[in-house]
Amino acid sequence: MRRSVVPILACAIGIAVAAGSVGANPRADARAAKGAAADSDEIALGAALVVQFDKDRGVAATPQTQRIEAYLQRIADSLGRHTVRKLPWRIHYDPHPGIKSGFALPGGHIVIWGGVVAYMSTEDEAAAIIAHEIEHTDIGQVAKRIDSLTKTGRDVRNASQWKWQEFGATYGEVPEKLCDFEGSKLIVKAGYSPLGMKRLLESFIALGKVHAPSDPPNRLIADRVTQIDKQIADEHWDALTKTRPLRLPP
Ligand SMILES: [Zn+2]
Repeated sequence: MRRSVVPILACAIGIAVAAGSVGANPRADARAAKGAAADSDEIALGAALVVQFDKDRGVAATPQTQRIEAYLQRIADSLGRHTVRKLPWRIHYDPHPGIKSGFALPGGHIVIWGGVVAYMSTEDEAAAIIAHEIEHTDIGQVAKRIDSLTKTGRDVRNASQWKWQEFGATYGEVPEKLCDFEGSKLIVKAGYSPLGMKRLLESFIALGKVHAPSDPPNRLIADRVTQIDKQIADEHWDALTKTRPLRLPP
């Protein structure tokens, strides 16, 4: 039953958690955030994979999904002013209610599913998942994945050799936790409350309790709540409790 709470695609904010410590300065070498591929090639590959994603999943924009996507895009734009890499951070909204998650495609393209948005009551939570996904790209995890696949003979300029699902798989506990850590800093820089990250993670735990009351809380997600609690204390963010209501368009 707990499966219904934990996102299917693992990269998402709701799943993998690191047990290890967060690196001291993941941005120390800005070039490390960028792989061998040119930004323009990475952006074009991501755009092609979005087309592939929409086709595979039958995603077709409606006036309603376009309004929601535009709202999420405004949040991404406010975060994008504070990123290291200057990429066109672009939100793609798939309204499917069964997937409580999001993931980062190459070049700054980000998929957000309707299932996770349904959990939210504040814009700060939306900022938290978008920031988590931005960080996958901004701290170089997506570029590293591209590089490792190009070493097997893939051509970054030939999108037909790539599958969008390859970017939905988890990066592992430590990298996922790092994206929470850096993502929390990003939302605070953009004026959001770090409670957005905490509440989003706690939503998964709360619903887990409802769906499987006799099971212990998901250890991975509980670890991530512990991390944000510690980060709020360490960064002296305790006063940043003011959140904004989620203003999803009709
Ligand atoms: Zn992730």
